Amino acid sequence: MFSYRHAFHAGNHADVLKHTVLLAILRHLLQKDTALTVFDTHAGAGLYRLDGDYAATSGEAGNGFLRLVLALNSPVVPVNQARTATKSVAIPKTTADTVAPALKDYLDLVASFNNKGSHKVYPGSPFIIQRLLGERDKLKLFEIHPTDAKTLSANIAQLEAGRQVAVLREDGFEGLKKFLPPPSRRALVLCDPSYEIKTDYARVVAMMADALTRFATGSYAVWYPIIPRPEAHDLPRKLKTLATKAGKPWLNATLTVKSSKLTSDEAGEVIRPGLPASGMFVINPPHTLKAALQLALPQMAEVLGQDKHASFTLESGG
Ligand code: SAM
Repeated sequence: MFSYRHAFHAGNHADVLKHTVLLAILRHLLQKDTALTVFDTHAGAGLYRLDGDYAATSGEAGNGFLRLVLALNSPVVPVNQARTATKSVAIPKTTADTVAPALKDYLDLVASFNNKGSHKVYPGSPFIIQRLLGERDKLKLFEIHPTDAKTLSANIAQLEAGRQVAVLREDGFEGLKKFLPPPSRRALVLCDPSYEIKTDYARVVAMMADALTRFATGSYAVWYPIIPRPEAHDLPRKLKTLATKAGKPWLNATLTVKSSKLTSDEAGEVIRPGLPASGMFVINPPHTLKAALQLALPQMAEVLGQDKHASFTLESGG
């Protein structure tokens, strides 16, 4: 069974990128009157505690969401997280007054899950999506890990959202097929695997190829890690080819927070850098997305950057 638990990573720099992009897409898609169905093929547990055992063990939110909060002078940050967050922060130019609208929207949304001034709860994609949906919209969540699926079901049950939200304890790559195209012919698919197994890269491409055949006008957002591994390197290139062949527009946003090089400590022990960068590849992006990210991405790189390799890219085509 897989060992990846998103609770270790909740609120990290990859979540900041992923959830800011997700939110910006949803804001646009939900302006229309026709019902939208959102599919989250790899949903996770839905809600995370940033002061819980998992998050405290890795402290990844300290270099992600909490670092943003700190930079923008939000009042309270849990002490242990704040320390991680301040370790090597250069004083950023991004402030509460200058923060990009998409980033502010993201921070406000996460804040809405917390008591004023506290940052204990971090919403995963299922809760971010559900918070925005209207009555006519639907959300289908796939989660294959028994523990996370159980936690997700329990978290979702508390929303009393009835038939609007369905939790499916099944493989998201395969499970998506039976729902495309959705009755309203409007959908967003978020595909956010853990890439714990190498075959996930090929399965993303196969799922996207199949989905575009079944439902070419849907919006698709794929998160991917940028790590020194051929499959990871090839993924955005393959998605670009798929979109181009289908004649559909695409957008690729990446955020790098540090070098991917291995270093060593004083004792000569190799230090792995952890995840240095990630990307969101969107097919059929809303026309407003690029402009929103042009403002938000430089700020993410500025605030979340940990060394001189911090950077972003924003490409689009089709
Ligand atoms: N999308 C979530 C968020 O943004 O809050 C995080 C998801 S996490 C990166 C990936 C999740 O996918 C893990 O909880 C893992 O158990 C689950 N998973 C792995 N393989 C899967 C599969 N084939 N189908 C559905 N879920 C899967």
